[in-house]
Amino acid sequence: MLKTIQAGSLRPEHVDQTVTLAGWVDRRRDHGNLIFIDLRDSAGISQIVFDQVLDPSIHQSASLLRSEWVIQVIGKVRKRPDGTINTDLKTGQIEVIASSLTILNESKTPPFYINKDEETDELLRMKYRYLDLRKPKMRSIVNIRHKAVKFIRDFLTDKGFLEIETPILIKSTPEGARDYLVPSRLYPGKFYSLPQSPQQLKQLLMSAGFEKYFQIARCFRDEDPRADRQPEFTQLDLEMSFVESNDILTLIEKLYYDLVKSITPDKKIKFPFPRISYHDAIEKYGTDKPDLRFDIEMSNVVDWAKKTDINILKTIVSNKGIVKSLNAPGCGDFTRGQISELEELVKTSGGKGLMWIAISKQSKSIQDLTIEDIKSPVSKILKLNEIQEIASIVSSEPGDLILIVAGPEKIVNQSLSLIRDHLGTHLGLKNPNTFEFAFITDFPLFEWKEEEKRWDAAHHPFTMPIKEHLGIVDKNPEKVIAHCYDLVCNGLECGSGSIRIHTRELQEKVFAVLGYTKEEVASRFDQLLTAFEYGTPPHGGIATGIERLVMLLAGTDNIRDVVAFPKTQSFIDPLFEAPDHVSSEQLDELHIKVNPTKI
Ligand code: ASP
Repeated sequence: MLKTIQAGSLRPEHVDQTVTLAGWVDRRRDHGNLIFIDLRDSAGISQIVFDQVLDPSIHQSASLLRSEWVIQVIGKVRKRPDGTINTDLKTGQIEVIASSLTILNESKTPPFYINKDEETDELLRMKYRYLDLRKPKMRSIVNIRHKAVKFIRDFLTDKGFLEIETPILIKSTPEGARDYLVPSRLYPGKFYSLPQSPQQLKQLLMSAGFEKYFQIARCFRDEDPRADRQPEFTQLDLEMSFVESNDILTLIEKLYYDLVKSITPDKKIKFPFPRISYHDAIEKYGTDKPDLRFDIEMSNVVDWAKKTDINILKTIVSNKGIVKSLNAPGCGDFTRGQISELEELVKTSGGKGLMWIAISKQSKSIQDLTIEDIKSPVSKILKLNEIQEIASIVSSEPGDLILIVAGPEKIVNQSLSLIRDHLGTHLGLKNPNTFEFAFITDFPLFEWKEEEKRWDAAHHPFTMPIKEHLGIVDKNPEKVIAHCYDLVCNGLECGSGSIRIHTRELQEKVFAVLGYTKEEVASRFDQLLTAFEYGTPPHGGIATGIERLVMLLAGTDNIRDVVAFPKTQSFIDPLFEAPDHVSSEQLDELHIKVNPTKI
């Protein structure tokens, strides 16, 4: 090794030792006779002193050093003189008096500061990712990711799980996205697909009798770019045989609780995680990934709406629409502009409008309200007792704002859930130091794709319907509830899973509802269906996102922060400039012709 110890590991106990250090010049401070170098390595920073009085030639060499040069220093560790101790640094009580300096490599001036936490253009950071990763914040996130994955591996190994790798060159495994395809050189015109997840493979491992499998699995999904997405990502992929939903949930709950406690002991996390049915989540929060750090809930007020004289509400209800309401605590004094922001959220969800009733702070109580206490575009149409009634349904107090949205169910839920989220931020209710995990359970098995006029799998096609609904899978697909669950935290989906179908007959029935032809089923799923005929046990599992987990632990909402070499929001790699053209020879070998008009 070119060093005897890490610069960042030096402590008072090393005083009087002669050490060899190697790393990067983080900062140079020239004080005339004394030059100070902050020497940085992967463990941290130590201060090196070059003293002209003690060694003029080494002092002269140190004057040449610039940021990010790579150097090796030999020197003696000493206690820092009184008054110069830096309590912000773990090495702040000591310094090293240099007796030898070797320049191992020079560095151009970096395109951005590494030793300052400055707002830097993200594209530039990604183009020079190796420099960006030198920053302490980025190093610490990489560290957290390593710790989290190690924790998972240790935890599951202790519980008897085997980590098994599955292929990257495989055939289509549907998870609702497009496949990334890899052309085969050896078999002209044929392609491998990169796995959207190892779903079928882990089920085959259950058929193979492994009973407890996991993998830190790379997944590839060719979806449209979105800010919080990467085309390739990592999952904790897990499967168990002879289990029921509760077994998987209990295991994941303990894993996540222990992991969070171990890696971020200062964060608040509750145990056990609440379990909320999909139906209740949509009813109360309008979404299947509610942020439970705050308890604003919505209520169905169809019955109330029907009694009022607001015709538009009545028309919506008679057209099978719904009316829901929530209370915005303390928002009764919202300005016109603030209300417009809320209205905008309804519009972006496809809704027509927002009805609001502001209750004055001056009013004594809801029972004592007078019409003067109310500000609302519908105050002339609503009767006082109707306002009191809705106020009591949504638990409003004086000073609150009642919000009402009416329309098609999906639009109403989405609008109000966006409003709820907005209020959570506005009212400062999203405590960044709290993790509110929950399981959302009992999802529908299918969802209707209106544009394509067909049923799609709500989770994926391998999900087991509940026992009571086995008889109606093909007769009333809209009613079928699945043994399916999501792990959510602070408004984010962290993972999903299910108990799986393990018989050919039922699996074929589900494929038929999904509209797969016999040929499609044979070409894509024959391996799984055949395995079902050879004693595949009942099984189930889950996959949780590693990036999401690390984002929570590291307190960042940028997915690119938690991936060492991420793609941009438009799925470009600015460092390697991928994707890129390839040579015509490579294309010829792959028997591929690119249509020049499409480039
Ligand atoms: N394969 C599923 C996914 O990637 C997870 C699972 O059902 O285990 O979402």
